[in-house]
Amino acid sequence: MKKNNTHFWETKQLHELSHDEWEALCDGCGLCCLHKLQDEEDDNAPVLMTRVVCHCYDIDAGQCSDYANRHIKVPGCTALTVSRAAQFDWLPQTCAYRLRHHNLPLPSWHPLITGLKESVRPHGIHALNPVIETENIDLEDYLIEMKSN
Ligand code: SF4
Ligand code: SF4
Repeated sequence: MKKNNTHFWETKQLHELSHDEWEALCDGCGLCCLHKLQDEEDDNAPVLMTRVVCHCYDIDAGQCSDYANRHIKVPGCTALTVSRAAQFDWLPQTCAYRLRHHNLPLPSWHPLITGLKESVRPHGIHALNPVIETENIDLEDYLIEMKSN
């Protein structure tokens, strides 16, 4: 029987999503573009979030300034692919990819549910007073309470 794909994010597993559906799953929160800190000698140490955002992020536009070339411009920018889903726990707890990997529902404010791109703003990077990374910035000065694990 053919699946009803109206709410594809509820009816499909991550590996079943088309390219466009995969892209639409991203809520645009920008939280994955924030720098994180973790004890280099302890893989099990908590990942601490900062409000310092990648230099390639456009805060006003609320998105990557060069999404098509992001992996060339920023080698540390991780490609989110279904083959890496098992590693998604470094992502924010609200990240749609992480939630769906664990078969959890999207939050009620997700743009796919509200139909409004802006509905993510109170829950994303804009709510954290982000600062753009610079060469000399000390990430430890910008730690925030949110943890990704
Ligand atoms: S944290 Fe997840 S939902 Fe938010 S911008 Fe990054 S990939 Fe998209
Ligand atoms: S290159 Fe773009 S998508 Fe990647 S971390 Fe930086 S701002 Fe985010």
